[in-house]
Amino acid sequence: MSPAVNNCTQSCLFCWRYQGLLETSIPEEDEPEDILQGAIEGQRKLITGYKGDPRTKPGMWEESANPNMVACSLSGEPTMYSRLGEFFEACHRRDMTTFLVTNGTLPEVLERLDPLPRQLYVTVAAPNEEIYRKLCVPLQKDGWSRLNKTLELLPSLGTRTVVRHTLVEGWNVGWEKEYAKLDEKANPLFIEPKGYVFVGYSRERMHNDNMPSQDRIMDFSKKLAEETGRGVLAEQRASRVTLIGADRSRMRIRGE
Ligand code: SF4
Repeated sequence: MSPAVNNCTQSCLFCWRYQGLLETSIPEEDEPEDILQGAIEGQRKLITGYKGDPRTKPGMWEESANPNMVACSLSGEPTMYSRLGEFFEACHRRDMTTFLVTNGTLPEVLERLDPLPRQLYVTVAAPNEEIYRKLCVPLQKDGWSRLNKTLELLPSLGTRTVVRHTLVEGWNVGWEKEYAKLDEKANPLFIEPKGYVFVGYSRERMHNDNMPSQDRIMDFSKKLAEETGRGVLAEQRASRVTLIGADRSRMRIRGE
């Protein structure tokens, strides 16, 4: 879900959302509790039809109707919602796990965010400013230095941190040494190279062959792991994603 559906500080070419609105602020904000309750009700509405399907296990349906995890991602830049801390507080009060995915252009928000989400993702979709400007199309003049400030801030934040590299073939795959420098600045718990997917409105700006193959993502991941002195811990081929980290004991892998 997202508390900022149409609002963002970038216009990434690989973004799947509709970008015609270009809202760089949220003029009217909803109450944090209303957003959370609305998201849960929306989830219940979404899964209603599955209850009568004989393939659906009743226990699993109940579990889905009572979600215990909130991921602020999906669309827009969630840190533009000025009451994000209150929103996380509402989630934690209900014993829900919280994930936040941010483009990192609002370091001042992350600096004072209280409470922090249980896991914080920062997307770094460019190895340098030139590619960042062309691919992520920042709407702030100093977008790149803001992102770098966020990366510098990351080690001081008391939560699990992840740097995500969204990889777009023909645009930003490679430059492992440059990515490694950015990753070292942030020193995250995990690095997640993830392939761009040709869906939604991004199809108006990208092509099918901008999706990197899993072999290409793995090749990038191995080189990046070497540059950062880490290892490739896991991969999920169907999602075209890998996980790089230093310490296997700090993560739980499904099935282990
Ligand atoms: S930062 Fe996220 S929501 Fe904003 S344009 Fe880029 S991909 Fe889309």
